[in-house]
Amino acid sequence: MLIDDHRHQGMRRHLVAELQRKGISDPAVLAAIGKVPRHQFIDDSAFLSLAYADQAFPIGCGQTISQPYTVAFQSQLLAVAPREKVLEIGTGCGYQTAVLCELGAKVFSLERHRPLYQATKQRLTAMGYRATLSHGDGYKGLPMHAPFDKVIVTCGAPELPRELLAQLKVGGVMVIPVGGEEGQSMQRIVRTAEGFRSEEHGAFSFVPMLTDKVS
Ligand code: SAH
Repeated sequence: MLIDDHRHQGMRRHLVAELQRKGISDPAVLAAIGKVPRHQFIDDSAFLSLAYADQAFPIGCGQTISQPYTVAFQSQLLAVAPREKVLEIGTGCGYQTAVLCELGAKVFSLERHRPLYQATKQRLTAMGYRATLSHGDGYKGLPMHAPFDKVIVTCGAPELPRELLAQLKVGGVMVIPVGGEEGQSMQRIVRTAEGFRSEEHGAFSFVPMLTDKVS
């Protein structure tokens, strides 16, 4: 499963070129996507050709691995500098987590679904990525590790979670898709000394950020 041969690397180069054509321009983000072996996040090797297609993919537990373009787009908006503390909400299979690690971030990631949290913790460790993964409710964030330089939410939030905003440093950035199940608008929120400033960056479609008890 942990094989990464010339064929995989070639497919990855094509994916990076495709993302570039679609408008991703940050060299650090493109390099990170070029390094993460995305096929290792998809358990069934029969789906190898889809691992490097620019599309989302079901990963079990009713969840999906995000589309590479979306991961690249959010990472570009986040503009991570090496050693920054980044909180991710919605670990899922850990692909975005791995991209953030390749960008040099100190990553904390929260997942509400316990079996997914456990499987991803094993996978990322086996792959050599050292992120701090936790099982819990993304709406609450991780107050014990706050404040964060950056917060990235990878599920659709019906509204801006206040407790997450409070865990952002002044000068820090949150990238979050806001909206219901019919679709979300990508927002980039900057915390200033006076409050929060937000910009919109287009329409996306994520699985919902759930509010019920963690499972
Ligand atoms: N980051 C992933 C995308 C995962 S899909 C990737 O790179 O592909 C979104 C994830 O958010 C799902 O795993 C889902 O279980 C999780 N999620 C939904 N609501 C949540 C909440 N309130 N707290 C934490 N995780 C949540």
